[in-house]
Amino acid sequence: MELYKETIRTLHQKLRAGEVTSRQITEAVFARIEAVEPTIHAYIQVMKADAFAQADAVDERLRKGDLEPTYLTGIPLAIKDVICTKGVRTTCGSKILENFIPQYDATVVEKLKQHHPVLIGKANMDEFAMGSSTENSAYGVTRNPWDIERVPGGSSGGSAAAVAAGEAIAALGTDTGGSIRQPAAFCSITGLKPTYGRVSRFGVVAYASSLDQVGPLTKDAFDAAIMMDAISGHDPKDSTSAPVMKPHYAAALTGDIQGLRVGIPKEYFAAGLDPEIEQAVRNAVATLEKLGATCVDVSLPMTQYGVATYYIIAPSEASSNLARYDGVKYGYRTKEYADLMELYTKSRAEGFGAEVIRRIMIGTYALSSGYYDAYYLKAQKVRTLVRQDFENAFKYADVLAAPITPTPPPKLGELASDPLAMYLSDVYTVPINLAGIAAMSVPCGFTSSGLPIGLQLIGGHFQEATLLQTAFAFQEATDFHKIQPEIKK
Ligand code: GLN
Repeated sequence: MELYKETIRTLHQKLRAGEVTSRQITEAVFARIEAVEPTIHAYIQVMKADAFAQADAVDERLRKGDLEPTYLTGIPLAIKDVICTKGVRTTCGSKILENFIPQYDATVVEKLKQHHPVLIGKANMDEFAMGSSTENSAYGVTRNPWDIERVPGGSSGGSAAAVAAGEAIAALGTDTGGSIRQPAAFCSITGLKPTYGRVSRFGVVAYASSLDQVGPLTKDAFDAAIMMDAISGHDPKDSTSAPVMKPHYAAALTGDIQGLRVGIPKEYFAAGLDPEIEQAVRNAVATLEKLGATCVDVSLPMTQYGVATYYIIAPSEASSNLARYDGVKYGYRTKEYADLMELYTKSRAEGFGAEVIRRIMIGTYALSSGYYDAYYLKAQKVRTLVRQDFENAFKYADVLAAPITPTPPPKLGELASDPLAMYLSDVYTVPINLAGIAAMSVPCGFTSSGLPIGLQLIGGHFQEATLLQTAFAFQEATDFHKIQPEIKK
């Protein structure tokens, strides 16, 4: 098998055994980037020279025997461009940050670097992570490797497409309302959105601070566990990161889910769900049952309010977070202005894209005096009810199984022209962020026209190990995650 098709785990075994070098793996990935990147456009920037320097340094140290390789040593990884990388331009998919070069690494990058991986590029994304299709990027659209006329999902669409297309072995993304899980589902890879507080947000450019989490996009659950082992844990630099013990995720994977209680939330199988997706998800549940799990019906009655609640809270937080881009301290500044107020307004109007402006306006409105109680405060109250829904369900189940999206990946342009339809497509992912719990996306089938389908596994607070165990068991019994796309130009 070509090296770019392999997982972190198998490449690590080969590297350790001296069968391949990090340079050979990196060469395979860059050859792939040369072949498919003009079609897919997964990256805003690739750092080819730096990547080979990192690979050669790893090989040299391994040869000398002064480096004990961990799973990620010498492995090519992509980083979503919302995550700060020291000395490397970090745009967030926005024109307003076209020249922003961070002075420091995000904690997640610093933690990865302790393992000496090869950082190959900054992945494309919806501007400031606002979107579900990666069409809201100031740096062009990313295409779905399974069908280049379709979107890869978003906002971590570049990260997902890069992994699916073999342009990276694994990637980091962020998930505020589905942005890891939904592109993972659309690109047929594995994605994990950790519990809020499990992974540090330090150095991750804020979209909606009470919802944002960093997580892995990988070829399988084992690789996701490896990435989680590297990036998770308490960080004194992020006051919202949780000072709780973390398990050793990869070492705990046995594939044994005997006695696991799987809850089926009936509201996630309601009208509007594509019948082929419903069938694939139900088949996946049957597979879990064969592996020893028991199923129980559960209800999450607040599901119907999830989208409305999220699209008040997320834009409200965004409107506040994005106030810092004023043309003075950061990024893009307009060329001509008469006074300070015009400097602010013109820089922001020219620097931000349409979707970001729309959300700043919605958020500013929802937070303004006279409307605050009716919108923001009300949304916060409903958010509590959404969380209680899950707490109730987890009395009867260890994990919940559901779809990720109501439809397969849409055609390019289909949702970009209809923001409301785009928001509604987040119906199965946003409640998880509102509740602050963990969830995964796992490949579970294809539609009759060959488009990927994702299974969502939802766990309680800090239950990542249970999710990974369930996903790992499922992947030991199925091959969906092993099928890779043939990119038709
Ligand atoms: N699609 C959702 C939004 O546009 C979620 C994005 C995300 O998770 N970053 O806000």
